[in-house]
Amino acid sequence: MTQDSPAEYGVIGHPVAHSRSPFIHGFFARETGQHMVYRMHDVSPERLQPFVIDFWKRGGKGLNVTVPHKINAGSLVREMSQRAARAGAVNTLLMDAHGITGDNTDGAGLVRDLTQNLKVILNGSRILVVGSGGAARGVVGPLLDESPAVLVIAGRSAHRADALSGQFESFGAVAGCGLDAIPAMAFDLVINATSAGLAGEVPALPASAITPGTFCYDMSYGSGSAETAFLTWARKHGCERSAQGWGMLVEQAAESFELWRGVRPATGPVLAALKGG
Ligand code: NDP
Repeated sequence: MTQDSPAEYGVIGHPVAHSRSPFIHGFFARETGQHMVYRMHDVSPERLQPFVIDFWKRGGKGLNVTVPHKINAGSLVREMSQRAARAGAVNTLLMDAHGITGDNTDGAGLVRDLTQNLKVILNGSRILVVGSGGAARGVVGPLLDESPAVLVIAGRSAHRADALSGQFESFGAVAGCGLDAIPAMAFDLVINATSAGLAGEVPALPASAITPGTFCYDMSYGSGSAETAFLTWARKHGCERSAQGWGMLVEQAAESFELWRGVRPATGPVLAALKGG
């Protein structure tokens, strides 16, 4: 790498061809005038360690980490941020001469989208998080930091939801259960953190979880403005306010970009471009 070479960043996943991260970071780089490149890399689980070490040794500055590497990437870092350690998952790697640091910007991205872009009030609210996989792990802590009245994690596998809530029991307001044991209460916010939508499915929630006052957020996103299966289901059961995960995707990327480059990009223009298809 010469002094004039652009700083190198990228995303690693398997598969990764669907990723919108190169588009988003390319947009941010142009907007903020950064001399950098951002490429996607399809890296199988067996190649994760050699790829990351080689990328760092070649002078690479940072990587985003997506499915299925978010948990295993934690074993490659010299240091973990507090939020990545709490989540037990890494979505951002920062690289310098001293080594590799792991961070997790998913939760901050979701909270920023909810509170800043969508004006959803989290303080004192009743929140239902559906799903207990990697995405749920990343967002439970940051949601609890906003002091909801109660946060229920409901999973198809009740034991996983229960185990996840157990990691946060010091907050007091959190409980885990199966989808068939969701407490009967009017939730202010229901977040779909499952991958059910990838198969065109909707998690088997009781319709009573949704009232006209419930804000429904689907971390998954359709293509452009197409509605996701979960949001179609929620609307049929009376939900009047909803959003899909484009805003979280863009806000978590902005958070990573700021960690890497020390400059916060505006998120509105790229969000509008993505939603437009
Ligand atoms: P994981 O594979 O780690 O977890 C998937 C979760 O979904 C598990 O809890 C699984 O349950 C549950 N699940 C899958 N199918 C069903 C179903 N039919 N009914 C009920 N539960 C189901 O995936 P991630 O957590 O990493 O990702 C989840 C979703 O969030 C994906 O669609 C991903 O694209 C999206 N995401 C969006 C982001 C954004 O920026 N907008 C960021 C990160 C993720 P079980 O434990 O029983 O298998």
